[in-house]
This record gives sequence, C-alpha cells and structure tokens, in this order.
Amino acid sequence: MKTLVLLILTLISAAPAMAQEAPAPAAERAPTILISIDGFRSDYLDRGISPNIAAIAAQGTSAPMRPSFPTKTFPNHYTLVTGLRPDHNGIVGNSMIDPRRPLVKFSLGDPRQALDPFWWDEAEPIWVTAEKQGVRSATMFWPGSEVPIHDSRPEDWQRFDQNVTGRQRVNAVLDWLRRPADIRPQFITLYFDTVDTAGHRFGPDSDDVNAAIRDVDGEIGHLRAGLKAMGMQANIVIVADHGMRATDDARVIQLADILPLDSFIMVEGGPYAAVEPAAATDTIVYDALLQPHDHMNCQRKEDLPERLHYGSNPRVAAIICIAEAGWTILAGEPPYPVTGGAHGYDNNDPEMLALFAASGPDITGQAPGTFDNVDIYPLLARLIGITPLASDGNSALAEAVTRR
Ligand SMILES: [Zn+2]
Repeated sequence: MKTLVLLILTLISAAPAMAQEAPAPAAERAPTILISIDGFRSDYLDRGISPNIAAIAAQGTSAPMRPSFPTKTFPNHYTLVTGLRPDHNGIVGNSMIDPRRPLVKFSLGDPRQALDPFWWDEAEPIWVTAEKQGVRSATMFWPGSEVPIHDSRPEDWQRFDQNVTGRQRVNAVLDWLRRPADIRPQFITLYFDTVDTAGHRFGPDSDDVNAAIRDVDGEIGHLRAGLKAMGMQANIVIVADHGMRATDDARVIQLADILPLDSFIMVEGGPYAAVEPAAATDTIVYDALLQPHDHMNCQRKEDLPERLHYGSNPRVAAIICIAEAGWTILAGEPPYPVTGGAHGYDNNDPEMLALFAASGPDITGQAPGTFDNVDIYPLLARLIGITPLASDGNSALAEAVTRR
C-alpha cells in the first residue's frame, strides 16, 4: 500500500515536467478568422477602394486564386473548407440531382434539401475535424455550417439571414473573441454576400459593386479595429468563392431553339448548364447537344477535360455545356434578368479568379502566385494546428505563406 501511494505521488510530481514538453495549449495560439467575400474578383483589389484589405495584403500576402469548376458559390465554399474539388466533396453545383433521390433537387431556394446532411456528408468540413481534434469553431455564416455534417455542427453557428448586416456579423465575431479563453473559438468563419449580389444585378464594372466593396472593406476595418482594441492578434485569411463577368441579354444561347423543352431537365443553367435527358429522350438530347455550337461547348460528363476535375460524381448531370465567356445558356424564360453579371464559367477564365489575402502572426511568407483554391484547406489546418484529412490540395501554399 505504502509503495502504491509513493508511486502515485511520484507520478503526480512528474506530471508538470511532462506538460512542459507538450505543444502550446490551443488557447495560446492566435485565432484564425476565415473571411469569404462572395464574388470578390481577384482584380477588384487593384481598384484602390479597399484600403483595409490592401493593408492586410501589404502586411501579409495576396495572390489570385483559381476557383474549382463549376465556378459557383456552394461548390467552391465547400471546396475551401474541405480541400476537395466539387466532384469529390459532393456539392457539385448550386443545384443538383442525386440518382438515389431522383424526385428531388438540391437547390439554394429549398431549405429542406439544402439543410439535409445527405447532400453534405460526402466530405468533412474543417470545423467538424477541428472540433474532433479539440479546437473550438464558430461560424458567422458559411454554406454548410447550418447542417449537422457527420452529426456535427460548429460549437457556435447562425442560421443564414441576409438581413443580418455586415456590422452585426463582425460584432458577433468580436463578441466570440472576447470570451474567456476556455470557451473562445480558435477558428471562426465570417461571410459577406453584398459584393456578389451587386455584381449579379449591375455587373462587375458598376458603381454598385464599388459601393459594396467599400462597405465590406469598412467592416473588415471595423474587425481589425476591434481586435486591436482588445489587444488580440489573429490570423485573417480573406477569400472569395469565384469572380464575376459582365453578361447581357444579347448574348444568350437558347436551348429551346435546339431541343423540345420537355426532352430534358435543366438542372442548372447560366454560364454553364447541367443537362439531364428526360425519360427515353437520350438519343435526341445527345444528338442535338453533342455537336458544335456557336458560343457553347457541350460534352458528356465522362469526356470533360481532365483539368476541370469534374464528372465522376453520380450527381453531375449527363451533359455539361460551358458557355463562351460572357454568354448565358437558357432553357425557356430566364429565372432572373440576364443583363448584369454572372459566374459559373470555365475556371480558367481570368474573370473567374477569386481574391486571396492574408495577414497575422503566423503569416510570415508570400503566396507563390496564382494557386488553386483546394490549397486553402492545408493552410487553414496549419494555422489552427490540426491534422488535415486527405484532400486535393497540396501544402505548397501553406509552406510558402507560413515560412519563417
Ligand atoms: Zn458566390
């Protein structure tokens, strides 16, 4: 008995020495804030109207970032937090049909589908992996963050509501960071939608887009001022999901001129189209679409060029048509006005390039030039100190940006 007590005492007294060799506790690490400015094209930064983002780029780093195909919002937001291309993360479009659920369509306007984990469970977002590894996460909006993916949500999350102002979003993030260390998130997302909305309605060269850029930049200034006031250093990583290109109703490819409207299902249309033949119409749909067209190129999903990394997922429609830059593919009446701006084109289109800018105590090097958005995930994992899951990204960006 006496020997046992001595042994326990010895073990207890040895514990502090062992703890000193362990990595720094999470609370001592600078928090990482991942900010998405939806539709912020890479070259908007050169307009000279976003001094706060420019300061982040100057103190840290910035580079053009190539989105994944299709250059749409949901697929790319999920790519950014999983490191997996849309073909591999399961969110293959803003709208999609799964052969296992043939009667329903995933779409942003249908919360019953958009919030169903069925669509999201093919990948694991970084906030779920972080929670599993003991890193607390909070999301001030991010596509997918409202969904219990792999039965897990961020510790703090918000139901998406466009009426929550940019200022309210930033103040929520600052409130989270004011918490005591044991309940303070180490990884936070923040999302702004107004630059994309203005881009769609008025086009990328409009005064409205510039006003939205100035406004969001001001909110990022408010975030920086708030962090400074509480004496907190944070890694700030700003990204966009895609760029924006001017479109107008003089440049429209009307599929109704090529095919009977009841012979196919247009799963998604616009700068790219996902087309599924209706029952027993395969021959006429394939014959009509798989031939040369002005301003549009259609291919079977299995024949898409390798560089698009797209077509293997069963949720990808049978035929993918990609419009020439600036053109719009429609089937009948457009669901929204065509004139304005759009995204969804080939991810090689320079106007689809997205913003990347980052600064903070752990951002010590420079991005090596244009990179693919799958490389953001390994960078985030390094900044928040977790072991990443296997992904399509590589660590070159993370190594360059965190080089000491
Ligand atoms: Zn978007």
